[in-house]
Amino acid sequence: MSSVRVRFAPSPTGFFHIGSARTALFNWLYARHTGGKFILRIEDTDKERNSDAFLKVILDSMHWLGTDWDEGPVVGGEHGPYFQSQRTELYHAKLKELADKGRAYEKDGAWWLRLEGARSTVFDDHLKKEIEKVDAAPMVLDDLVRGRVERAEDRDFVIFRSNGEPVFHFVNVVDDIAMKITHVIRGEDHLSNTSKHLELFKAFGVEPPKYAHIPLILKTDGPGKMSKRDRGALIEEYQQRRYLPEAVRNYLCLLGWTPTDGREVLPIADIIAQFEVGAVHQSNARFDERKMANVNMQTLRALTPAQFAALARPVLADAGVIDAQVTDARLEEVLAVVQEKAVSLEHLPDFVRFFFTDDFKKDENALANLTKKGGDPQARVAEILPALAGCVWTEAAMDAAFATVGAAHGRKPTDYFAPVRFAVSGQGGGAHLQAVLRVLGQETVLKRLKG
Ligand code: GLU
Repeated sequence: MSSVRVRFAPSPTGFFHIGSARTALFNWLYARHTGGKFILRIEDTDKERNSDAFLKVILDSMHWLGTDWDEGPVVGGEHGPYFQSQRTELYHAKLKELADKGRAYEKDGAWWLRLEGARSTVFDDHLKKEIEKVDAAPMVLDDLVRGRVERAEDRDFVIFRSNGEPVFHFVNVVDDIAMKITHVIRGEDHLSNTSKHLELFKAFGVEPPKYAHIPLILKTDGPGKMSKRDRGALIEEYQQRRYLPEAVRNYLCLLGWTPTDGREVLPIADIIAQFEVGAVHQSNARFDERKMANVNMQTLRALTPAQFAALARPVLADAGVIDAQVTDARLEEVLAVVQEKAVSLEHLPDFVRFFFTDDFKKDENALANLTKKGGDPQARVAEILPALAGCVWTEAAMDAAFATVGAAHGRKPTDYFAPVRFAVSGQGGGAHLQAVLRVLGQETVLKRLKG
């Protein structure tokens, strides 16, 4: 069994955005890749900013993404409780330990960590290879003389506030020690905290974990970091828009990491097998909504018919497109035809409504295209109608009908496709026409062609 223990340590002070989701995911992948443990720890010491609603969003989103945890809220574990708000006793005991060692002292009502020796910002980050190295003794001396480095005592920092609340750095390290965390994989925004965390490990006399700070996610346009307010930033948005969770998860993996086998859309088992923390990019990743939509589309198209039908049924029922009378067989028959052209579950109701009712929307743009440059869709429909009426209802027989009528009128068979498609579906494009006609059935098709 692997000794790897990683954790995701969110503070429930805001919505769960894709940056947090990716951090959780990379920790989860590393645990699954190494056969280690993935721990969820809720850093809820900031009473004013925490809320149960935010906590619920975090847990729901993680469930939805399938990043299951081995220890943490709900599942428990031997190092619990996993809410920092319930670990106050431990923090006081650990403060006392430092005070007893002379490494913590009280000043102005707050407790401070007493630093000793040279600043120790040297650490071997898995990703950020250029962490400033300043603890080589001669250099520190030199820098001290020149006033470039503060003296140790000037770098002391507060670990318990005067109101009796422990500070983030302190609880973060105390818990990483208590929970036997071996690797800290977190956002680059915490890089500047790491020297403090290392000081705390040193004060406790504990070997620090390995650190890997993962780069930021930039917004689609411009130089800025993706913020909660940016479109596409919140995981629940994808949930509401009926994205496939495995597709969102797959896309998040691509934000700062590249699968080694050249595929971008791949099963999670293959991602787990290939994922290495050290291979996470050092440069920032850029969020690309279109790519996310594309990964979702590819994932949707790769589902088995039964999987697709199981997901589509509630979506179509909610939209009033089908009712319980529509059999699985009929649903699968329709979906089999449209799957290769389906864009998303969100758009599926409008895409397939015409299979189930005569009351479907007609796309004005599609109609405009048909009549552009003197096109006469009604005339084409009138020409093809008798042949389709007398046709055996197979795709091959329909092909022959289009070819024969085309030849008789000096046209290409394809000249009939768009007018017929529009008449039966109101759409300007879609799945393979003959398959659409076959599944609609001859009676319905003729009825709609007659108008
Ligand atoms: N609670 C911190 C955050 O949400 C966790 C930092 C860490 O992973 O060490 O950013």
